[in-house]
Amino acid sequence: MRQSRLFLNTLRETPAEADVVSHRLMLRAGLIRQLSAGVYTFLPLGYRALAKVEAIVRQEMDRAGAQEIFMPAMQPAELWQQSGRWDDYGPELVRFSDRHDRTMALGPTHEEVITSLVQNEVRSWRQLPFTLYQIQTKFRDERRPRAGLLRGREFRMKDAYSFDVDEAGLDRSYQAMYDAYCRIFDRLGVEYRAVEADSGAIGGEGGNHEFMVISAAGEDTIAGCSKCSYAANIEKAVGQALSVADATSTPASETVATPHARTIEQLVALLGVDAGQIVKVLVYMADGKPIAACLRGDHEVNEVKLKKVLRARTLELASAEEVSRFTGKPVGFVGPDCGLPVVFDRDILSITDGVVASKVPDSHDVHVVPNRDFTVAKTADIRVVRAGDACVQCGAPLVFMGGIEVGHVFKLGTKYTQAFNTRYADESGAEQLIIMGCYGIGTSRIIPAVIEQLHDEDGIIWPIAIAPYHVHVVPVNSRDEEQGSVADSLYHRFLAAGVDALIDDRDERPGVKFKDADLIGLPVRITVGNKVKEGNVELKIRRTGEVQVLPIEEAFRTVLGLVK
Ligand code: ATP
Ligand code: MG
Repeated sequence: MRQSRLFLNTLRETPAEADVVSHRLMLRAGLIRQLSAGVYTFLPLGYRALAKVEAIVRQEMDRAGAQEIFMPAMQPAELWQQSGRWDDYGPELVRFSDRHDRTMALGPTHEEVITSLVQNEVRSWRQLPFTLYQIQTKFRDERRPRAGLLRGREFRMKDAYSFDVDEAGLDRSYQAMYDAYCRIFDRLGVEYRAVEADSGAIGGEGGNHEFMVISAAGEDTIAGCSKCSYAANIEKAVGQALSVADATSTPASETVATPHARTIEQLVALLGVDAGQIVKVLVYMADGKPIAACLRGDHEVNEVKLKKVLRARTLELASAEEVSRFTGKPVGFVGPDCGLPVVFDRDILSITDGVVASKVPDSHDVHVVPNRDFTVAKTADIRVVRAGDACVQCGAPLVFMGGIEVGHVFKLGTKYTQAFNTRYADESGAEQLIIMGCYGIGTSRIIPAVIEQLHDEDGIIWPIAIAPYHVHVVPVNSRDEEQGSVADSLYHRFLAAGVDALIDDRDERPGVKFKDADLIGLPVRITVGNKVKEGNVELKIRRTGEVQVLPIEEAFRTVLGLVK
């Protein structure tokens, strides 16, 4: 492509509406333009990158045996009523009425459409298993569209759905998609982790992974092992239990006055103890009933885990009024003997010389030991892991990292096939529910996620696999005949060799060309300048900044080697 003809406007100024690096760079490098909140046009450079991402996704889906289809974005409300999601999905579902006053939705995802399709098409076990996928525009009226393509209201997604006769089949289909996702993200050339995610109400253990691009700008927090492959979303992550320490030499407990000391920090300051020695009790309302959660003062409740332990549908922290109504104590002075059912975090047993709210008002008991001074009945893992906790798989310390969710693989089971009565006749002729999995990749989110990871102060650093063009040929002075013709001939030879080349044939100052080249961030730049008199050009690797002066022929072959 000739840059003089390219539909591209790079921006010198940082656009005011963008506070996330990838969003700023995508606007400045002319990849996208906003139409309205969370809705974007892809310009040529951005669309080429998206097309390359989607080509890789498509290749790996096909290689995994999935078959491509294309489903409508426009969907009748009845389908969504049948699955129950017309009500459950909430305002994110874009709804409208057609000219006959029939209510419709724009697809945020396609479980309903595909399950009803399969219900009509599949009769017998002989037709199973299969996996279907599509790459399509999705609509979600997100509460907070942000950061350009990272959270759009209209965005691109690859969604796949597997259909199997039994759990073992689902396991195989799931693994095939999981492996395909690993190949996709390997090929994209980004640092990522497959992390265990919480399944909420549906989906069994081990049947739910998110693929995260590692980035501090991510909305998700991942706890990953510093040594092995264990990684989990913070909502789900577990560590090893702390050891139950020896407390035989702890003196007998005594009561000390602690007026106004309601918080862990205040107790630490007043009593000079470690936060980890304080017995913390929090009162929650679980499905409308009060319960207490008891854990170390330096640990935080993981409400997702607590909810699971309680098998509760709703869980929220009790108000100050509820705390005193149900325990007779003010907030900050509730102990494990508060009269409510208590769930103890298992690490409460690591306290050797503890502090706990006393029966005596405005006081705490010190030198307390769990199971000596208060009874620890039921323990469970109900806390958020901390950096440094021991990995469940290998014992090495966990570290925290930010992640951007770019993909999600999920064992659905029969949630949708039940709703749509989607059955097959087994070998004996008996009707059985089909078992499903679903697998999404946010193809348009991948682009900003990659840029978050790969950029510097000058601009984007494209990995070669999805760069809009592989090589940027830049004649320093386009009016110089020799520079112009060498650059031109290199450009044509690249095209003939199947290398995606962009030539900056604009009549611009060298400084402007170089600034634009760094901003656009193609993987290799070939600068044709004065050295061409000696038959040399400059080859610059965008990622490392490394510059080599090479004979023209060698520069050409080096680029071919990098691209192939
Ligand atoms: P998130 O928690 O970020 O909202 P999600 O759990 O709603 O994501 P899924 O329903 O699993 O996402 O969708 C599959 C994939 O689609 C996600 O992994 C993500 O890459 C992408 N995706 C989801 N919502 C958006 C969005 N608003 N903009 C861009 N990509 C999105
Ligand atoms: Mg979402």
